[in-house]
Amino acid sequence: MNMEQSIENKLIKANHAFSNWKKVPFAERQQLIAKAAEILKAHAQKFGEIITTEMNKPISQAVAEVEKCALMMNYYAKADNILQPEKIDSEYTFSEVHYIPKGVILGVMPWNFPFWQVLRFAVPAILAGNTVVLKHASICFGSGNAIERVFEEAGFPEGIFQNLEVGHKEVKEILEHEIIKGVSLTGSGKAGGEVASVAGMNIKKSVLELGGSDAFIVLDDADLDEAAKVGALARLQNCGQTCVAAKRFIIDEKIEAEFLPKFIEEYKKYVPGDPLDKETKLGGMARPDLADDLEDQFKRALENGAEIIIPLERISDNEFKPGLIRVKEGNPILQEELFGPLGMVMVAKNDEEALQIANDIPFGLSNSVWTKNKERQQFFIEGLESGTVNINRMTSSDPRFPFGGTKASGYGTELSLIALKEFVTPKTIVGN
Ligand code: NAP
Repeated sequence: MNMEQSIENKLIKANHAFSNWKKVPFAERQQLIAKAAEILKAHAQKFGEIITTEMNKPISQAVAEVEKCALMMNYYAKADNILQPEKIDSEYTFSEVHYIPKGVILGVMPWNFPFWQVLRFAVPAILAGNTVVLKHASICFGSGNAIERVFEEAGFPEGIFQNLEVGHKEVKEILEHEIIKGVSLTGSGKAGGEVASVAGMNIKKSVLELGGSDAFIVLDDADLDEAAKVGALARLQNCGQTCVAAKRFIIDEKIEAEFLPKFIEEYKKYVPGDPLDKETKLGGMARPDLADDLEDQFKRALENGAEIIIPLERISDNEFKPGLIRVKEGNPILQEELFGPLGMVMVAKNDEEALQIANDIPFGLSNSVWTKNKERQQFFIEGLESGTVNINRMTSSDPRFPFGGTKASGYGTELSLIALKEFVTPKTIVGN
């Protein structure tokens, strides 16, 4: 094995920490998580500035991200212990299930929410008794190190959470190491597929939180003013670089003429500004090459028949004035994720067609439907192929509710009590 000694030392340290951490009572682990939440909340501005400096998120959104992490950690700090041994009725003298943490878990995380993605995975894994090593996105090592310090300052034993500072080429070797017992990856389908195949070859558990191309369906009885305002935010928050951003706006043809002008007006309120100014709603993209990719997708969409509603205008190496295009079924761009400030509008003749268009993509992350009619709501709740369906609200994750996708958006669950069971082995004990 050619692994750098300093990295292997961290894995050994994480494994050593695990041998003690797994014995620490759940309630004691929760106290430390509450302490870490306090630190995050108290220094949200400072941590927000790290995020903004690393990936250009507007500072108000970066601070909100850190505060949301604290909220999530407080949720777990007060969560019921669903990992206690469970007794099962049987003819034996005793029969029960114990939930055994797996050990050292690798997190491979993206840059778009540099604190949230990491902690959303790490906190329930650690509360369940595992320890964590992080391979953060290469532009977010500052965030990774800051999170490591939060764990230290909160009083967690050394080695519970470590940032590795490695590039993606090193992930395979780390994941193959016998100390690593599972992996959680949030990122692109390409990275997810590669990492999951290494995990599979080595018989290790994987969780994948991948891309999406969520629909935002506006029907003729919706509150159009609210849908227009929330729709623009749902597409353009975080400069459109959100897995659960609304990427395809499927509009009932009966209200197209009334809705579109309202939507365009709201959309145009997002103009690029200095990300460190707290009034700024739209920053630049995280890296210039990602802006190149988006521009290329825009061009290809047009070559395949898309029409411009608002042009996507590049104003610097990583900044755009947001664009909006009208796309018809059959355009190959619909099979891709647009990870930036470019939205797609489609028109549907009726609810059946809206549902069919919404599902006709490789992804299945989340969807949002706008209608006041209960029966129509139910039709979409049952028919949409996605991990989440929102009615009259945009998608945003909430610590209390499970989060995850289906189809090419991945597998496994983050958040809620369900996430506590992702990296444990149910051990059956039966005897007389
Ligand atoms: P990415 O390129 O896949 O990177 C994500 C992480 O994977 C980074 O740490 C990256 O490291 C690493 N990585 C890249 N290629 C790898 C490989 N071949 N083997 C092992 N690790 C590899 O994704 P991104 O551009 O940062 O993030 C955007 C994507 O994430 C979008 O598709 C978005 O929808 C998805 N996402 C999903 C969720 C969700 O919860 N479902 C949430 C947020 C984002 P380097 O930085 O060193 O390349």
